[in-house]
Amino acid sequence: MGLSTVVSAQKKYTIVLDAGHGGKDAGASRGSYIEKKIALKLALKVGEILKKDNTINVVYTRKKDIFVELHKRASIANKKNADLFVSIHCNSNNSGKPHGSETYVLGLKGNDVNFEIVKKENAVILLEEDYKKNYDYDPNSAESLIGLSVLQEENLDASLSLASLVQTNFKSIKRYDRKVKQANFLVLRETVMPSVLIELGFLSNKTEGKFLNSSYGQLKMAKSLATAIKNYVKRLKLNTVQEKVIAKSSEKKKLKKLKKLILNQ
Ligand SMILES: [Zn+2]
Repeated sequence: MGLSTVVSAQKKYTIVLDAGHGGKDAGASRGSYIEKKIALKLALKVGEILKKDNTINVVYTRKKDIFVELHKRASIANKKNADLFVSIHCNSNNSGKPHGSETYVLGLKGNDVNFEIVKKENAVILLEEDYKKNYDYDPNSAESLIGLSVLQEENLDASLSLASLVQTNFKSIKRYDRKVKQANFLVLRETVMPSVLIELGFLSNKTEGKFLNSSYGQLKMAKSLATAIKNYVKRLKLNTVQEKVIAKSSEKKKLKKLKKLILNQ
């Protein structure tokens, strides 16, 4: 087997970058700080960085300001047999006080605060024409939460592993750490690979909104997020088996605790 055969046979890791919202759905906005725009800029920047690694294959759910239904975002990832799905969003609140980054994995029992965010992010399906046909879900009802799919439960360790890397990296660039959380986001529920949804920060917070809207802030966040994804891929390369994604035992313990917390929330 020649060298070229070896190289071409090397597994490529497909990362789906999902810029939240788009087109008629602007997402959370405060003045000139617009979620759909910031999410897209971030996704494209993260993709640019990841593409430099020739073992990573980047797929975007949107590259322009267009409306993409939630189930389509998930099915893009499923059809591409993606190894990872990363949905990028910005938060907002009626108060200007809340700030910081948080990363979500799919979970059944979110608390009330998480449900408010879920309601906001899932409500977009009301703008979709066939939402009743496409989802067994009413975005305004907490009771319409259904169980985790077996696949997503199997993916939970890996999703938590990436979520934890993302939060650690954001913290290292001085973003306030709102921790890894769980909630029932539709876009995560329909994917069949490890998936996370990231709320970069609050557009309703003056300082954070300004930071996230600046090219400086976007580059900083993108670099940090890309590094987290690259570290995750590194772990995948070290352990081809998913259960072994978490290499270090100290971190294993930390994630075990996190998982227990999240499943019993
Ligand atoms: Zn959003």
